Amino acid sequence: MENLMEKIVSLTKRRGFVFPSSEIYGGFANSYSYGPYGAELKKNIKDLWWKKVVQNRADMVGLDGPILLNPKLWEASGHTEGFNDAMVDCKECKKRYRADHLVEKATGKDLEGQLEEMTKVLKEEKVKCPDCGKSNWTDARNMNMMFKTQMNGFDGDVYLRPETAGAIFIEFKNIIDSMRVKVPFGIAQIGKAFRNEIVAGNFIFRLREFEQMEIEYFVDPEFKWEKMFEEWLEFQEEFAADLGAKKEDLRRYEHPKEKLSHYSKKTVDIEYKFPFGFSELFGLAHRGDFDLKSHSDASGQKLEYFDAQNNRRFTPHILEPTFGLDRSILVTLVSAYTEEKLEDGSERVVMKFPKKLAPVKCAIFPLLKNKPELVGKARELYDALKSQFMCEFDDNGNIGKRYRRQDEIGTPYCVTVDFDTLEDDTVTVRDRDTMEQQRIKIEELEGFLKDNLK
Ligand SMILES: [Zn+2]
Repeated sequence: MENLMEKIVSLTKRRGFVFPSSEIYGGFANSYSYGPYGAELKKNIKDLWWKKVVQNRADMVGLDGPILLNPKLWEASGHTEGFNDAMVDCKECKKRYRADHLVEKATGKDLEGQLEEMTKVLKEEKVKCPDCGKSNWTDARNMNMMFKTQMNGFDGDVYLRPETAGAIFIEFKNIIDSMRVKVPFGIAQIGKAFRNEIVAGNFIFRLREFEQMEIEYFVDPEFKWEKMFEEWLEFQEEFAADLGAKKEDLRRYEHPKEKLSHYSKKTVDIEYKFPFGFSELFGLAHRGDFDLKSHSDASGQKLEYFDAQNNRRFTPHILEPTFGLDRSILVTLVSAYTEEKLEDGSERVVMKFPKKLAPVKCAIFPLLKNKPELVGKARELYDALKSQFMCEFDDNGNIGKRYRRQDEIGTPYCVTVDFDTLEDDTVTVRDRDTMEQQRIKIEELEGFLKDNLK
């Protein structure tokens, strides 16, 4: 399975989905660019999420907050003080590790948050450095995971937001005042967040700069939330299926009660079977009134909701479904990757993306490059379709080669203009998954694509 990851890393680079960033300068640790097809795929996933979460729901509104926020926010939320990971350095080779991960791997013990205990175990059990094999550790110590920066006109440190949620809590009052929302309702946001991970990796799974799709859903404290909690979990599983995830590759992990933050009633992760094992894809937490209460106390502003019908004032409780966007992309890539043996003995690699997520929907080929009447007709068709669908024109190499390339970028339909087209205005449409070809009248092509790309 490790092999599958290598194949995906290689294909996504070769075919313009994901590039290791800053390569001409020798690279830059764990940063990636989404290339032309990756950017399309990412946009399609975001659009689908927004459509399901905001456009299709009367109880949700969207928000687009800033990355740089007043640092008082991170004090109130506990991030300045407590958003830490335990790190330890190998004195021999100078490599840095997550101390809790080393301890857990070596002894099975979960000592999260217990620095002295971790240091003791690392030294007493002579835990070896995964890199150089020696055992000579510094003490384990906390490292805050927020990226710090400075801003003109502001005294003191400013942080790149470690999650998008903060920007939502602080606009709660503005949204209540400006929109006609009634509890229960939710605010959704897509955006970048930054965490200075001690160890990043697994391709785009754990990035220091990443993108989240987050929802804060506000409910009455008296509300029976259990059913809605279950509905959000089901929604998350449904969204994973939209990405192409198979049911058997998904599972729920409920955080044990004793590991929950003091304010959380329940936290469940949706895990996906990545090539490197089951890992968190989405999360859902009941956060009580912790966030609005903390920001209310720290800012001196009342962050409450007035229920006019029952003449009651209260601080709403929050259900927080979060979705990793880069992880969603990885799920889409992993579940789409298919190797097939064909009848003639040859093999093909095909990215079987859900059709609505495919970066290119339709590729248009003239059968031969050196026949101006075929090229002209194919161009005409491309020009007519490109305002409706992401299309690509390709007259490079033989048809077989062009099919192979479109298979590898997951294009659902390839349309070929040939000599019959000039006679009867029909084209050959080839299906990515079945490889079957059918003749379709040009005037019916747009309708055919619309029906089949839903
Ligand atoms: Zn070492």
